[in-house]
Amino acid sequence: MKKTEKQKEYDLIVIGGGPSGMMMAGRACELGARVLILEKNKHLGKKLQITGGGRCNITNAEFDVRKFLSNFPESKEFLFSPFSKFSSKDTFTFFEKRKLPLVIEARKRAFPESQKADDVFKVLEKYIKTGGGEIKTDVQVVKMSKNGNKIFSVETKNGEKYFAKNFAIATGGASASWTGSTGDGFKWLKKLGHTIKEPNANLVPLTTNDKWIHRISGLTLSFMTIRFIQENKTKLKKTGKILFTHFGVSGPLILNSAYEVKKLLEKCPVTASIDMFPDTEENDLDKRVLKLFEKNKNKILKNIFPELIQKNLALEILDLPDINLSEREANSITKLERKNLVKKLKNLTFEITGTLGLDKAIISDGGIVLEEVNFKNMSSKIYSNLYLLGDILNINRPSGGFSLQLCWTTGWTAGTDVGEKVAQKKKN
Ligand SMILES: Cc1cc2nc3c(=O)[nH]c(=O)nc-3n(C[C@H](O)[C@H](O)[C@H](O)COP(=O)(O)OP(=O)(O)OC[C@H]3O[C@@H](n4cnc5c(N)ncnc54)[C@H](O)[C@@H]3O)c2cc1C
Repeated sequence: MKKTEKQKEYDLIVIGGGPSGMMMAGRACELGARVLILEKNKHLGKKLQITGGGRCNITNAEFDVRKFLSNFPESKEFLFSPFSKFSSKDTFTFFEKRKLPLVIEARKRAFPESQKADDVFKVLEKYIKTGGGEIKTDVQVVKMSKNGNKIFSVETKNGEKYFAKNFAIATGGASASWTGSTGDGFKWLKKLGHTIKEPNANLVPLTTNDKWIHRISGLTLSFMTIRFIQENKTKLKKTGKILFTHFGVSGPLILNSAYEVKKLLEKCPVTASIDMFPDTEENDLDKRVLKLFEKNKNKILKNIFPELIQKNLALEILDLPDINLSEREANSITKLERKNLVKKLKNLTFEITGTLGLDKAIISDGGIVLEEVNFKNMSSKIYSNLYLLGDILNINRPSGGFSLQLCWTTGWTAGTDVGEKVAQKKKN
């Protein structure tokens, strides 16, 4: 394909208007590059606008880069270089300079003070527009063409062709595909000769077929310990908050366990075990239960047990087939039955059947393998004018603002590289 004289050539075409693409486009514009951003949705930032339940957990306020990157166990060695250019501290400076103050909540999660993801989007949109960037929405890129080891052009579904000196694939991963991230970038990269690790649901709720869990949907246990057990061995243990849902369990603690649980499930079944009183020894808990029974000798258990734990959960536990005590009077409970009940509170088990899958996942793992990316400027090691950002990279990480920080860091680093190349050319 040859360019005609009339066809405009940009310094940079960014495919995908998510947070990483918007950051790169804005930064390159700021440094004087002519930038076009192509987005297949009707507006940019669809996924960004639903982050953090609409509040946008914009970054994690761990300002020590080493500590921050300890959350990226498999990829931190690659990430030191871009994070030395743009870290979570820089994210604070960037947004606060643009009149979007941030606040820090539990676990160092940072949010805009306004609690609106839309405000984050507006800052980025203004950043691009102020720099003179062009935005085309409702435009789906379907093909990338190369010339030797350079990307040459992109084609859209409507048959239009766009040319640039540099390109960025910022098409996201494969989670929540209804937001637009349908894995297109992975297909192009494969065709271009890159290696792609198949995307898989990550940071995703876990499912169970145990109906009593489904029935307590909406209930939260704020401080408990959950163990994931395989072949009678505890493989993973975490303490925190768990949310019960109509399909299984969720909440940050579960989302952050999903990656490892998923790997375990590939081998054989996994049982989850909740200790509802992690700070209380079994003997002491037994004493508490005994006291409760003695105080309410003639009452039936379903009326007194909610004094110890939330009502809905209390009733479900009492009705479990191996407990079956809800209609019994406290004074009729044998020592063995009481001890079994106490054991249940310390070891409430259910089978994990899987995850809710890619469409309900916060992120997908998988993507372009990191060895094929030059992390100094986020370019492809095969095509020096092709940049790779955000969720397109095969980087596992926990929830808590780490995903968006990855977008800010990779977008800024890549945008700076293109901007500086353009500025250098203008000088010469
Ligand atoms: C429900 C939910 C909540 C989340 N909350 C948080 C949070 O609070 N904090 C956090 O750090 N992370 C959060 N994340 C993760 C975070 O949103 C992602 O990591 C981030 O959006 C990835 O950005 P990206 O720029 O790589 O890709 P995306 O945001 O996925 O954007 C990619 C864009 O490319 C476009 N595109 C794709 N293919 C084409 C094509 N062929 N042509 C043109 N355009 C195309 C898509 O339409 C899309 O707009 C959340 C994710 C979900 C699903």
